[in-house]
Order: sequence, then C-alpha cells, then structure tokens
Amino acid sequence: MAGSIIRRRFIDIGANLTDPMYQGLYNGKQCHAADLKTVLSRAVQFGLEKIIITGGSLEDSEKALKVAKSDPMLYSTVGCHPTRCLELEDDAQQYIDSMVKLTKDNADKVVAVGEFGLDYDRLHFCPKEAQIKNFALQFEVAEKTKLPLFLHCRNAATDLLEILNRHRDSYTSGVVHSFDGTYKEAKSFLDLGLYIGLNGCSLKTDANLEVVQKLPIDRLLIETDCPWCEIKASHASSEHVQTKFESVKKEKWSEAKQVKGRNEPANIVQVFEVISKLKADIDADTLAQTIYENTQKVFFPNS
Ligand SMILES: [Zn+2]
Repeated sequence: MAGSIIRRRFIDIGANLTDPMYQGLYNGKQCHAADLKTVLSRAVQFGLEKIIITGGSLEDSEKALKVAKSDPMLYSTVGCHPTRCLELEDDAQQYIDSMVKLTKDNADKVVAVGEFGLDYDRLHFCPKEAQIKNFALQFEVAEKTKLPLFLHCRNAATDLLEILNRHRDSYTSGVVHSFDGTYKEAKSFLDLGLYIGLNGCSLKTDANLEVVQKLPIDRLLIETDCPWCEIKASHASSEHVQTKFESVKKEKWSEAKQVKGRNEPANIVQVFEVISKLKADIDADTLAQTIYENTQKVFFPNS
C-alpha cells in the first residue's frame, strides 16, 4: 500500500539472556539493578518479535527455559556447549535423557537442540577428543525431539562437517550460529541443508564481509549472541551501521541507555543493517522479511 510504513520484524535466534549481566552482576559484583525487562522492552521497540535464549548446559538450559516462561516472546534451547561438555563425562546417558525430558516436557518453549558443536579455540575448557565424543552423543536429543540444531563452530569446521555428515539421518534442519568461517565452509553447511547464523562476530573483518556478500539470503538467520559479539567501532562492519545507541558504563547505569560492552537483542538492527548494505541489490524490507520467514521455517514451523 502506497505510503504505508512497513515495520521490520526480527527474531534474535541467539541471546544469552541467562547471563548475570542482565541481573546487573559483572564478575560477581552488583553494578546496577536487574534490567532484563528494560532490555526486552527496548528489543520490542526495535522490532523484535521473538527471542531464542541459548542454553549452554543442562543447568543453563533449565535457567533459559525459566526465563523463556516469563514472557510470551521468549523461547529457549536445550544443549551442552563444547566448552562445558566435560559435564557429560560423569553419566552421559543420564545427561542426555534429562535433556530429552526437559525438551519434550516444554515443547511450547524449547525450539532447538543446542547450543552444541566444537570449539577448537578454547580447548583449555575441554580437550578435542572429549568435544567430538560429547558433540556426537547429543544427536540422540535431536533424533528423539525432532528439533533443529543450534550449532557452535570455532576453528573446527572440518570435524564438525564430518560429524554432521555421519549423523545426517538424526536431524532435518539447523543453523551454524555465529558463523565466521570461509565461503567454502559455509557452502558445505548449506549443502547439508543447514542455515548460517550471523552476528557481530561474523562481521568483524573484510574477509568476513566478503563471505556474507556471497551467502544466499534464503539461508540466512540473524542473532546478537548477546551479551557478547556486539559490533565494535574497530570492526569492518561498523561503517555500515546506521542505528546508533547511546551507552554508558555499567557504573553509570540508567534505564534509558544501553550498557557499554554489553550487547542486547535491540542491536540486531545493526546486524541487519550491515547485511543489508552488503546485499545492496535487495530491497531492505524484502531482506528483513526473507530472514524473518527463514527463521519461522526453521524454529517455528507450526506458527
Ligand atoms: Zn556459540
């Protein structure tokens, strides 16, 4: 309709809202009041319709679910992150069974298995062999729940692809979130039917931007990975950001402003703006709608 304003709708597929920073806690120190509600209302203001809270372990997935239950726009994942996967070593089957139960008992809120995968940049938390073993074990959760995968991959694409190929019958869809690899790696994930999740960490360098430019828009998803992965002034992407937010140091917290260094879901507009600039031949509203529909298709197929 001529003259009508199209409101862009966003879904943040990766938000670590269980992080203590949203309770005002930084390294165990209370720096300001809990402000998750304020953070969520800023998100709504900038077009966020849904937010998927990332679960990083069984206990964290329980916490994520609890937060998800506090607001109709929130959803969560259940899985064990590669840096925490030694938790599975005690009694892997019990851990897996608990994840399956948590997921099935809360089918209205839990929308993905993860985050799980491989992180070879942080082997000090969990050695390679244990990461591979415990990543592979979690496909049982995907198989039993039929939910899409929320995958984490750092410097480990070759092994991740090998395991994903080996378990190809255990899943139908999923996303490699916070993608920062090469186009060749992206292509291999796309060939498996997976989607690529982009946030500030995916857009740091000129090489990152060149990869994103080549990715097909019908396979893109966006996220913030907050409180991490914000777009910084030093990143190659920052020149493409149009919407700027005022932020103050955590010690100077005020409800009306963002906290410096703490990313939040509202900032997904910046991720979108960068991608839109890189996809200059596509109308921005069409791009926003395509990404929104991609997300619905993967994580909310029944809505
Ligand atoms: Zn991750």
